[in-house]
Amino acid sequence: MVLSRVQQVVLLRLRIGHNRLNHHMATKLKLVPSPLCSCGKNQTAEHILQACPYHNALRDTTWPEETALQKKLYGPKEDLERTARFALQSGLTI
Ligand SMILES: [Zn+2]
Repeated sequence: MVLSRVQQVVLLRLRIGHNRLNHHMATKLKLVPSPLCSCGKNQTAEHILQACPYHNALRDTTWPEETALQKKLYGPKEDLERTARFALQSGLTI
């Protein structure tokens, strides 16, 4: 089975950086005042997927082993499904 439309949209937005995370919303679209995440770092897709401490628990259950960003965004279907699930469960608007 192929990825759902919602999964595909989330992955595309994370890949190209055109998304609703603060870094893009502040620096490109000027729609929010700060590019920062509530943890204080630039809120980019890489930050959310790889580093943000607010999403550590969800990240650890989604990827029990450390996983490269490249694999999360461009890996086999199973990895893409994990990434889409993580994004949707994070509570963030992507
Ligand atoms: Zn953060």
